[in-house]
Amino acid sequence: MFEDIPVDVSPMYEGERIRSANMFVELAGPKSWGAELVQVEETVEDGKVEVIGPELQDMGEGDIHPLGIKIEIQGEALEKELEGVIERRTHELCNYIKGFMHLNQRDQIWCRVSKEALEAGFKLEDLAKALLILFKEEYPIIESIAITIMTDEDEVQRFVEKARLQYEQRDARARELSDEDVDVFYGCVMCQSFAPTHVCVVTPDRTALCGAINWFDCRAAAKMDPDGPIFEIEKGEVLDEVKGEYSTVNEVVSQRSQGTFDTVYLHSVFGHPHTSCGCFEAVAFYIPELDGIGIVDRDFRGETPLGIPFSAMAGQCSGGKQVEGFTGLSLEYMRSPKFLQADGGYERIIWLPKEIKESLSEYIPGDLKDKIPTEEESANIKDMRAFLEEKGHPILDRLEGTPGEVEEAPVQEEESVEYAEMDMEAMPVAPVAYAPEFTMPASGGVKIIFKNAKIYAEKVIIKKN
Ligand code: SF4
Ligand SMILES: [Zn+2]
Repeated sequence: MFEDIPVDVSPMYEGERIRSANMFVELAGPKSWGAELVQVEETVEDGKVEVIGPELQDMGEGDIHPLGIKIEIQGEALEKELEGVIERRTHELCNYIKGFMHLNQRDQIWCRVSKEALEAGFKLEDLAKALLILFKEEYPIIESIAITIMTDEDEVQRFVEKARLQYEQRDARARELSDEDVDVFYGCVMCQSFAPTHVCVVTPDRTALCGAINWFDCRAAAKMDPDGPIFEIEKGEVLDEVKGEYSTVNEVVSQRSQGTFDTVYLHSVFGHPHTSCGCFEAVAFYIPELDGIGIVDRDFRGETPLGIPFSAMAGQCSGGKQVEGFTGLSLEYMRSPKFLQADGGYERIIWLPKEIKESLSEYIPGDLKDKIPTEEESANIKDMRAFLEEKGHPILDRLEGTPGEVEEAPVQEEESVEYAEMDMEAMPVAPVAYAPEFTMPASGGVKIIFKNAKIYAEKVIIKKN
């Protein structure tokens, strides 16, 4: 199937990490720009592949180039609402290609090509060719598909702007609904390939933490493939409306996290916050000294007032963990009226990167806008306290009143930044163990539980005794 492609293409390469010593070029990412976009069209020239801009063979070792991945699809049963979910698979499918690494989503993508892939003759054209086949295999409802890869600076710039408009349209639609308006939420376990206990709960108010999948996207995906990674969750009994705790959500999360977690609060960082995989757009973190919450996003390069950058913070709570005082979230969730409502919403926010504060300006209550410091006003707790006191931030009432629910910050800098994407060199590679052959006992039975494991098998034979 992939005979024309000079490198192997298989799910077994999904965990492959390309570190700088082995890297030929970097595409998009924090030092450049890029985006991926899937669009459902009425007519698409099936099998068309185009590369606009320099090919890998025209690039120099260690170069960094922008990257655009445009995927046009057509099919009788394809709905516009499926674009977001199909687009989210780009990450996984690109990673099937040996020597090509893809991280993140939307306009946050970050890719690398290995030296070995280049030596084998791999081109960006092959990336497009492999994706053509993989997308059609994954989604039989795609009848025609065309893929354009862009590396030309101006072309990618224009493409990123266009893609952002599309993302905004998708997100804006979900803003019209709220959790009370629906009977079902959705779950997504696509990220369990690297965060085995992570279960995203997607509600109208809580867009998935990767920021790429909202309630409407999930509805379309679950309808198309009810046994797929995105599934319906009946709301069930409301156990705590403010925290966002629902009986069925708890049951499903327990089942899908292999019993690791049995309680999830959708709208709080305390107690049982939503689990975090690693592709979250931002992290909410508790600041115990001031009993407030800070938010740091993936694009923020400096240190947070806790003295650690986003990457270390992400390392704290990624990999499918539920860590009290931390939760990964999407920037879209910060536009919801339910945004961390159990913790006080924006009244509890005492630090934000300037860029985020500006981009969410219309969603921050007017009287709080000048009271929330950014990296410009407070680089540490001392400055932050002075700023909050000077501006009369409502957190001061809380500080005078009851103490916080978490007494100590559970922050320790971790060495391994599992999938945090800021420190690609630090990302772990899963060890591989081989089980050539084993025999089951004749009676009594055995139960084998693999956690954090991926299993590759050339052949599996199951015989009935
Ligand atoms: S972050 Fe959540 S919604 Fe997004 S792909 Fe992963 S599991 Fe699915
Ligand atoms: Zn994820």
